[in-house]
Amino acid sequence: MPRYEFRCRTCGDTFELSRPMAESSDPAACPAGHDDTVKLLSAVAVGGSSSAAPAQGAGGGGGGCCGGGCCG
Ligand SMILES: [Zn+2]
Repeated sequence: MPRYEFRCRTCGDTFELSRPMAESSDPAACPAGHDDTVKLLSAVAVGGSSSAAPAQGAGGGGGGCCGGGCCG
């Protein structure tokens, strides 16, 4: 479950919450019980950083189908 970092504008505390992505934008109360919090756009740790970078070689040839003559 991803973790989201929040900051309380009342007491200035920062805290993390683990919650489903569907609830990522829901309001969160700080550990001291204040409701005036903002979500920080920072560390979202989902167990392994997958930054959606495509694998090298996609569309670049170099082996695969056309190397073997199966593409006609
Ligand atoms: Zn607070």
